[in-house]
Amino acid sequence: MGSNVLYIEDNPDNMTLVKRALESRGYVLLEAFNGLNGVARAEQDEVDLILLDINLPDIDGYEVARRIRSSGKNKLAYVPIIAITANALKGDAEKALAAGCDVYMSKPINIRELWARVEAFVPSPKAGGHAG
Ligand code: MN
Repeated sequence: MGSNVLYIEDNPDNMTLVKRALESRGYVLLEAFNGLNGVARAEQDEVDLILLDINLPDIDGYEVARRIRSSGKNKLAYVPIIAITANALKGDAEKALAAGCDVYMSKPINIRELWARVEAFVPSPKAGGHAG
């Protein structure tokens, strides 16, 4: 069972927060600090879920999602993508879904929401068998 989570995020504070939160649940966090590196890691590494910031310094998260979904690596057509948006009320969420993301969550990142959303796609390696 895979548990590799790729987080594409340029903010180092958010990266550290999410890394600690997910590693405490037994996931392995793969880091990418810009969009192009994120697409490259998704194609090169074994990735089970992607957390995607929308505001990135090179290509934005929508473009990242489109490139991942149209990749020649078949698994990337359906790997879960959770968009993390700063402006959920201004249409970011709808645009993220249209670009191929499965769900979205808003900043600031709430750790319990993060755990719940990630575990909905990839069970925590520390859950110990059946959930509940
Ligand atoms: Mn950002």
